[in-house]
Amino acid sequence: MAERDVLYIRGEWVRASGAGTIAVENPATEQVQARIPEGTAADVDRAVRAARGAFPGWAATSRAERRDLLRKLHDGLAKRAAEIGETIAKDVGTPLRMATRIQAALPQTDVQTYVDLLAEDESDERVGNSVLVREPAGVVAAITPWNYPLHQITCKLAPALAAGCTVVVKPSEVAPLSAYQLFDAIHEAGFPPGVVNLVTGYGPVVGEALAEHPEVDVVSFTGSVRAGTRVAEVAARTVKRVTLELGGKSANVILEDADLATAVKVGVSNAFLNGGQTCTAWTRMVVPRAKHDEVVALAKKFAEGFTTGDPLDGATKLGPLVSAAQRDRVRGYIEKGIAEGATLVTGGTEAPLETGYFVAPTVFANVDPDSTIAQEEIFGPVLSIIPFDDEDDALRIANNSRYGLHGAVWSADQDRAVAFARQVRTGQIDVNGGAFNPLAPFGGYKQSGVGREMGRVALGEFTEIKSIQL
Ligand code: NAD
Repeated sequence: MAERDVLYIRGEWVRASGAGTIAVENPATEQVQARIPEGTAADVDRAVRAARGAFPGWAATSRAERRDLLRKLHDGLAKRAAEIGETIAKDVGTPLRMATRIQAALPQTDVQTYVDLLAEDESDERVGNSVLVREPAGVVAAITPWNYPLHQITCKLAPALAAGCTVVVKPSEVAPLSAYQLFDAIHEAGFPPGVVNLVTGYGPVVGEALAEHPEVDVVSFTGSVRAGTRVAEVAARTVKRVTLELGGKSANVILEDADLATAVKVGVSNAFLNGGQTCTAWTRMVVPRAKHDEVVALAKKFAEGFTTGDPLDGATKLGPLVSAAQRDRVRGYIEKGIAEGATLVTGGTEAPLETGYFVAPTVFANVDPDSTIAQEEIFGPVLSIIPFDDEDDALRIANNSRYGLHGAVWSADQDRAVAFARQVRTGQIDVNGGAFNPLAPFGGYKQSGVGREMGRVALGEFTEIKSIQL
């Protein structure tokens, strides 16, 4: 069993103040693979004080010094990439190939973005008789989920450090092991003590203690709407800046002139990426009524090609869900879909394997856009196909969601697709399979969140602006 029984505070691996531990399971084997400390409010206080103490020194470093340390961090992550991929395959259940290509690689990109941005010269902006000075916002608490456990930390940590902030990271207790590998790389890079700190534990204890701590200036949260709302409430008492990256229920709109086979194939892959445990997953496939049955046949074929199995096996395309609780939740939604009258095309509630928290790739057709499975984030391999009558109807369905994170639109006419994309109320949308861009602002409209991550714009989340009048 991996020994990860420590926290990282003030540049050292230290014992937690309490004796409690949290078991970390491998979802494919259902075995406990590690235990991590169950941090307390006292640990949070220690870490926040360390970050506060380190803040003036770190805020005063030059861009070149911060760039140099981030470059070392990037190299440390690159060196550990294979190990990180395997850890996340065992922690989250992501098939190893994807775990290496996405889970281990994206964090390197996150850090490299700010290595590059820090190479640019910075000069103060002038507005009339004012000089606008951008200053680091202070101590940042980063609270993150389990589905892309390392990327969700580095996409907060890298811009926060680049902006001159100090940070306390609270990773998900469900998949925390790659965070330890990150902190091995942080230690090796030689960040000054207190600049980056790690406290593990449960959300309502460690997460809330961070959100309410008076010495935390910014809370950057990724996770569920439920926990994000709570974080915002608690943080409001001390008027903190809060950014929230929450859930999604994204629509993949396939207009009648689109290349159907490509749009459905890419759409199914997107919906099932990481077992469907992806906040941007296109879980609603919105298709012309006249082509509904053709789409259903294609989706069935592609979904059934998602070989379920051991994440460490190269042939596996669909691993287990992260936990028994998540599997039970997803099964509940499948039952609800059947009960509310959607047509089950493939998959269902039956476990495809005896051991591990597996759910079969599942497709529903003829889904009512107002039904539970079309409205709620399922976070599992469950795709809902929803027919539309005309383009206005397609747009109404796409926007019929309390979420607004991501989406897609397909058409043989690129201008038509872009015109449609402009009317969808989401933070990102891909036209005809446009590729993921790590420099593009990422975040949600509506209940998908507040604020933007990734690229240059993320620096603004960790910066205060001072106007000096001359
Ligand atoms: P979660 O909300 O249960 O947990 C996220 C983090 O918040 C964890 O570290 C957890 O310990 C902590 N937390 C839980 N309760 C808390 C509380 N009361 N106070 C403070 N912190 C608390 O979410 P999860 O199950 O880990 O992740 C799945 C959710 O995350 C999904 O809804 C998914 O859509 C969302 N997500 C969003 C994005 C995005 O960028 N928009 C990315 C990935 C995941």
